[in-house]
Amino acid sequence: MLDKRMTKEDIFENLKKFQDMDMSYESGRILSSMCTKPDPIAMEAYKMFIETNLGDPGLFPGTSLMESEVIEMLGHLLHLENASGHLVTGGTEANIMAMAVAKYLFQEKHEGVPEIILPESAHFSFKKIISMLSLEAKVVPLDENYKMDVSKIEDLITENTMAIVAIAGTTELGLIDDIEKISEIAYSHDIYLHIDAAFGGFVIPFLDDEHKGDLNFDFKCKGVSSMTIDPHKMGLAPVPAGGILFRHAEHLEKLAVKTPYLSKNKQTTIVGTRTGAATAATWTLLNYYGMEGYRKIVKNAIELTEYTYKKLNLMKNVTVTCKPELNLISFTSNNKSADILKQELYDYGWRVSVAQRPHVVRLVLMPHVKKEHIDRFLTDLNEVLNG
Ligand SMILES: *Cc1c(COP(=O)(O)O)cnc(C)c1O
Repeated sequence: MLDKRMTKEDIFENLKKFQDMDMSYESGRILSSMCTKPDPIAMEAYKMFIETNLGDPGLFPGTSLMESEVIEMLGHLLHLENASGHLVTGGTEANIMAMAVAKYLFQEKHEGVPEIILPESAHFSFKKIISMLSLEAKVVPLDENYKMDVSKIEDLITENTMAIVAIAGTTELGLIDDIEKISEIAYSHDIYLHIDAAFGGFVIPFLDDEHKGDLNFDFKCKGVSSMTIDPHKMGLAPVPAGGILFRHAEHLEKLAVKTPYLSKNKQTTIVGTRTGAATAATWTLLNYYGMEGYRKIVKNAIELTEYTYKKLNLMKNVTVTCKPELNLISFTSNNKSADILKQELYDYGWRVSVAQRPHVVRLVLMPHVKKEHIDRFLTDLNEVLNG
């Protein structure tokens, strides 16, 4: 294979072929993803910083400064002054970092197997984390509203409880756990609390009063130790852009490893070499859109979700699972299973996914999805179900 070279022309012809096999967000047919088409201004910034490596920040002090400004802005968004953290590859890495910190803190005082209390609705990244960090999972069932059943948490606390995890914007249904109450429990027992707002972090702060009310889900709750917030979901940043924020600088320091031959003498990330391009893209987006710009993006997504909710509720043989809190919506049908529906919609060109708890069809209404796509989708769905 490698002994025959291709011309540049052939290469790009081939690249185009590969690209044509992919789905595009622009088609409006991806209703299953929490990622979206990156904003053009973010792509421009990304390209400009494509050679940077934040694993060796002494060589790229400007990019490194940008990372600290992004962390400061994300902290501000989540009501934390002097946040510590990093822009990482995504929610998975952010969650790993938080749980590694919690484990190191636990091991300073305890000998037993560390236990993590998390809801049934936790993202599958926690399966990886539980296995990699050799944790014992104490799973909190969901209540009748599909949220972490807060009344069951205290029963699961033992002297080996290392951390509690709660979700602000679940991956499957987009629901927000009662962080305020969970924070009180964690604070009163002096237990590390991590909030996974990988998705919700770029939605909840921008909801209007009617949708947000007096909801507190972030560092305003004094029991919250760390949060995951991903720019590459509703932040409109190109992949890979995840965020991890710690309330206490000394917690991030628990991850520090000496890096003798690099330009700075320590690293507090899991990966070594890492792009500064996503940081530049995120810095650009936060400054370009600001609160006002993101409020508009979120408003549009929520309005389309409410429109879809209303239409689905009127459709014959459709049951909507729950009232959406964010721009996700789920449903079932009494004449076809979720898996069959997913397959039949696939044949119409739609990509939807199936949630497991409960077993329902799941739609994510990201900014690349427009009203005309939804109208077309609903027509096709009606034909699949009632045609
Ligand atoms: C998407 C998501 C993750 C994982 O993020 P990646 O960027 O895919 O690693 C973690 N938690 C929640 C709640 C998510 O929605």
